[in-house]
Amino acid sequence: MTIYDDEIFKMACDQFLVIADYLSIDKNDRERLIYPKRAIAVTLPVHMDDGSTKTFQGYRVQHHLTLGPTKGGTRFAPNLSMGETAALAMWMSWKCALANLPYGGAKGGVACDPSKLSRNELEAVSHRYMQEMISFVGPHTDVMGPDMGTNEQVMAWFMDTYSVYHGYAVNEIVTGKPVAIGGTEGRRESTGRGVVYLVERAMDILKMDPEKCTAIVQGFGNVGSVAALSLAYKSGVKVIGISDAYAAIYNPKGIDVQAAEQHVLKKGNLRAFSQGEHVDPNEFLTLPCDILVPAAVDRVITSKNAGQLKCRILAEAANGPTTPEADLLLEKRWDELFVIPDILCNAGGVIVSYFEWVQGLQAFLWSETEVTDKLFRILEHSFAQVIRRAKSHKIAHRTAAMAIGVERVLRAKKMRGLFP
Ligand code: NAD
Repeated sequence: MTIYDDEIFKMACDQFLVIADYLSIDKNDRERLIYPKRAIAVTLPVHMDDGSTKTFQGYRVQHHLTLGPTKGGTRFAPNLSMGETAALAMWMSWKCALANLPYGGAKGGVACDPSKLSRNELEAVSHRYMQEMISFVGPHTDVMGPDMGTNEQVMAWFMDTYSVYHGYAVNEIVTGKPVAIGGTEGRRESTGRGVVYLVERAMDILKMDPEKCTAIVQGFGNVGSVAALSLAYKSGVKVIGISDAYAAIYNPKGIDVQAAEQHVLKKGNLRAFSQGEHVDPNEFLTLPCDILVPAAVDRVITSKNAGQLKCRILAEAANGPTTPEADLLLEKRWDELFVIPDILCNAGGVIVSYFEWVQGLQAFLWSETEVTDKLFRILEHSFAQVIRRAKSHKIAHRTAAMAIGVERVLRAKKMRGLFP
């Protein structure tokens, strides 16, 4: 029993052990690759609008410090736990290593439902969380970014709290902040754009004509909405399904994704969006399409529905959407289902976060074209390495992607010794 005990941490460990066996990693090295270097839990008392004081639990997990500072998003979600945070931090480590970024993985967040907080309450939670984290984070120690339930505004509040403490603007303490206070051009769109870049590469390999393809996207937040917009208006793919936590909408004639975006901006979610049939969210992922993009929560592709997916390309934009049991089923369908595994598929976010951090440290800003070109170059390199490794070793894309990441971290740990 450890403080990380949780279903999703177990899932991350199980995935790692598959790779450890494949790479024949010595048993003496396994635990230090799995367990986080540091984990911080904090209690955040906050004055609520109704005059009460509510306490929230906050977490930050820094997985390893072997290659540089840790880097990872901040999740505001009702059931967030230390174990979930640790699993997400571990995945960030393999993701950063796969993209060759000089980072270890981290993740953090607050167990709260941001949709039930007023703006004042959200600001108070954000300031208080960063205040409690000041001793543990820093531009050369641990750099935060956004994740589910947080956005540019929350990053601005984090940066403000850290900067007020130090007495000057430290914008390199967070990434994903607004451009007006040192954020980078192209960060908000980076994860979704990266997803679509990789989908296009998969379509090339499979000789699929985008104009004849259909897509279903689960999740219509930062990642899902940008992915759906890029698929529809950049790649020319017909988006026939979109969903969020409130509704799943299907229209085989194609959905006007821009109208959906405007609707969500005005109403907050897709509940009342009327351009299609409202379908059962549990059956949404198994509807026929060419490209399926889970871009919401973890563990949505399970042993129950993996055999029923009817897509040709599964682009894992969310972190951990596929359980290890489902993976075994997907591996058997390798010739009909092309998987772009999460640590590759959604790496665009952390890659552009890295660019934002570098720009902040150098106080030298790049244009959006420079950012996007460099993003695609790194994704292309990672994608090619994964495809090559999977082909030559006859292994699944996920095994190949994770193996490349784990190998790099292990090699660095061997070179440095036991400390990091
Ligand atoms: P977000 O909070 O902006 O949006 C999440 C979306 O998912 C919302 O539309 C929400 O309504 C929807 N959702 C929540 N539960 C759902 C459910 N059960 N079924 C269907 N939809 C549901 O979050 P985001 O930043 O877009 O992140 C989405 C996923 O992408 C997460 O897994 C996150 O870890 C991952 N990710 C995000 C980034 C990033 O840069 N934001 C980078 C890498 C990975």
